[in-house]
Amino acid sequence: MKIIDQNYINGEFKTIDSSKRLTLKNPTTEEDIAQIYLSTPAEMDEAIHCAATTFESFSQTSIDTRMDILQRIHDELHKYEEELIDLAVLEFGATITTTRRRTKNAINLFLAIKEELKSYDFIKKDDYSITIKEGVGVIGVIIPWNANLAHLCSNIAPAIALGCTLVIKPSEFNALETQAFLECLHRANIPKGVVNVVHGTGEVVGEILTKHPLVNAISFIGSTKTGKRIFENCSKTIKRMTLELGGKSPTVLLEDANLAEVIPHVLSSAYSNSGQACHAGSRLLVPKAKVNEVKRLLLETIQKLKIGDPKNEETKIGPMINQTQFNTVQDYIKSGIEEGAQLLCGGLGRVQEFEKGYFVKPTVFICQDQTLKIVQEEIFGPVLCVLPYESEQEALNMANDTLFGLSAYVFSSDETKAYEFAKQIRSGRVLINTAASKAKNPPFGGMKQSGLGRMGGRYSMDAFCEIKSILF
Ligand code: NAD
Repeated sequence: MKIIDQNYINGEFKTIDSSKRLTLKNPTTEEDIAQIYLSTPAEMDEAIHCAATTFESFSQTSIDTRMDILQRIHDELHKYEEELIDLAVLEFGATITTTRRRTKNAINLFLAIKEELKSYDFIKKDDYSITIKEGVGVIGVIIPWNANLAHLCSNIAPAIALGCTLVIKPSEFNALETQAFLECLHRANIPKGVVNVVHGTGEVVGEILTKHPLVNAISFIGSTKTGKRIFENCSKTIKRMTLELGGKSPTVLLEDANLAEVIPHVLSSAYSNSGQACHAGSRLLVPKAKVNEVKRLLLETIQKLKIGDPKNEETKIGPMINQTQFNTVQDYIKSGIEEGAQLLCGGLGRVQEFEKGYFVKPTVFICQDQTLKIVQEEIFGPVLCVLPYESEQEALNMANDTLFGLSAYVFSSDETKAYEFAKQIRSGRVLINTAASKAKNPPFGGMKQSGLGRMGGRYSMDAFCEIKSILF
């Protein structure tokens, strides 16, 4: 069993001065795989002071210097890509094919941001004013467990580009991948104190980070519940904030959608990351007359989805990350049954062929009522709610009848019609006729209680800037 007992502060691995620890299990086999030590408030405080001191010098470095750092981090991560993939599959249970794609995208982000840096508008001049964009300062980053490497890279790359320094509190549940990432960062020989990482719980070290007066901005990715707490903490010192929170995204099948073609996309969105994806299309809105056909196609397609060992190339659905998440999803399934939703497939209990592992049965409910808890709340597991609609206006109302607004999907044979519908959905992102767009670093973020601000490529750089006017 691997022991993770060091933070990364001021360019050094420093032993955590605490006896509190958490044991991580392989979600596929339930074997113990790692123990992570949980830091104290004093260790978080030390990291923040280090980042604040480093900002003074790092913010003055040239763009060429920072481009060079981004390149070096990319190159080092690229060399260890296979190791990073294996660790994500081991400790999170994400399927190998998804992890491979996500790891590559995350690593390549350093090159994309390097490219953006070449043409970034740091200074704009006119006759009587100069407008300057400058790095916001010390950025506190708090991330969840469902796409660890992507979240690390999507914050570190733009922060470095802007000359900011970081204190990161990763999720407790991705300690192995984070450790391998930090070893790459260390070998890339980046200036000491630019990236600091403190392991620990949100309640202890996360709270310190969001309240600390030396932290200028918080980039938080996680649940809406925690986001609200962080919003409150940040208000005490008026920190800049980006909040990337939860979702309950609608997938709308318009009347003319080719059902046989689109159902595999519907499921690949709903069960993306085994359902543990913020953008999962977990509410499926279907014309009433087409419900029976959709049910048949869903059953047919789900039967073909391979569930099991995430290392297997054929696997489409792996386990939940841990027992807690498995239990949460079970509670929602129970609630759906108790509230009278019709169970089309899946349901309570572990997938029968496995004695071990946190495998939830891919589940579909047919729901007559938008007010059901399973329709309104984010489940974060492979549970899809099908909702019939009478008219496209009703479908639109239902799509928008949610506290969230992170993502949405519209399927139609007529792209123009789908586009007109998409424009009316209150959501940060709408995908048309696909579950996975090939767009390069489009903005990402939520409306309503799905968040604040936008990240992604140039948008992440904007999020990490202050804007200053000098007037004549
Ligand atoms: P979570 O909110 O429980 O935890 C996220 C992080 O916050 C963890 O590192 C945790 O330790 C920390 N934390 C907890 N309490 C804290 C506190 N009081 N102060 C500071 N930090 C605290 O979320 P999770 O269960 O790890 O992740 C799943 C959630 O993340 C889902 O809701 C999902 O939709 C969301 N998510 C959103 C996006 C997005 O881009 N919008 C992406 C991925 C995941």
